[in-house]
Amino acid sequence: MDRKLLFTSEPVKARFIAPDGCEAERTIEIRTNPITFRTSRVTLSRIGEKEKGTEPLPPPPPDADLKAECPFCRPQVAVKTPQCMEKLTPSGRLVRGESLLFPNLFPYGAYSAVSLFDDKHFVEIGTASVRSYRDSFLNCAEYLRRIRATDPQALYMAITQNHLPSAGGSLLHPHLQINADTVAANHHRFLRLRATEYYKARGSRLFTDYLRHEREDGRRYLGNTGEWQWMAAFAPEGFYEIWGILPDCTSFQHLQENDWENLALGIIKTQKFYRNLCRNGYNFGLLLIEDGNDCFEMRAIILARSNHAPWVRNDHTGFEVMLGDMATFVQPEETARLARHFWA
Ligand SMILES: [Zn+2]
Repeated sequence: MDRKLLFTSEPVKARFIAPDGCEAERTIEIRTNPITFRTSRVTLSRIGEKEKGTEPLPPPPPDADLKAECPFCRPQVAVKTPQCMEKLTPSGRLVRGESLLFPNLFPYGAYSAVSLFDDKHFVEIGTASVRSYRDSFLNCAEYLRRIRATDPQALYMAITQNHLPSAGGSLLHPHLQINADTVAANHHRFLRLRATEYYKARGSRLFTDYLRHEREDGRRYLGNTGEWQWMAAFAPEGFYEIWGILPDCTSFQHLQENDWENLALGIIKTQKFYRNLCRNGYNFGLLLIEDGNDCFEMRAIILARSNHAPWVRNDHTGFEVMLGDMATFVQPEETARLARHFWA
């Protein structure tokens, strides 16, 4: 699988007789992700489409004020959420500033936890504080460090976020999910192999080389927050997909407090960009493989999801689910042009 990084985009034409009787031609770009080789499509003719519920930003959901019914709000969080096994932490939950971390009551793997930002029950996109994100990340890192110390085989790790139900969030109260397992997820399995083979063949790291290309090209590059470098994804698998790369960093254990803060800063800049587009739902993800491989680097992904508003169409249609190609409407170069302002 030693394939070098190729940024390929193939235009295909669709021809038809338009309702006005004239011959029409529409261009679709089929791009190949240089990391995964997966194809995705930019259906340029839909760029002018206004998604339902994106003008203006939808109002807060009806349960935005229902703190008393939320298991993550104080004081009930102390009795309605589970506690970690004693070998992980005798205190049951991890605390960092306002952030509180505890196990997921409905786990997805051997280690499955929730890290709250603070006691704010509903936070409008783009308005969270950098400190709340930093402290929640530091809590995640402490939890993962304790797993490393007590169960080093659980090396496939991830920190994710589903903001609002449209992005898969089941509770409105903002939180990160942390997972660690001995069994690799699909993306872990593929990326471990890809990064290792690339490094063996070329002597340089996959995401560092990807970043070098994108900095030289410049059309999708946004800027940096500390050591984190941000860009619009070349072959997006979600709307307005943004990547943050921390070059040559292959373990969360190498991150200092300010690195987590700079990651938080980039995420909040992306959120402000989405808010500016009147989009309110997103997913965030950071995958970690803590096997000492020294090949697989830190890369964060954020992408907008269908808006959380009544009767909005889901962004995964038969095309995405059955054919496996994500179809977005905006060229990544245009995403970068619109987003760059937030990095200035
Ligand atoms: Zn709450």
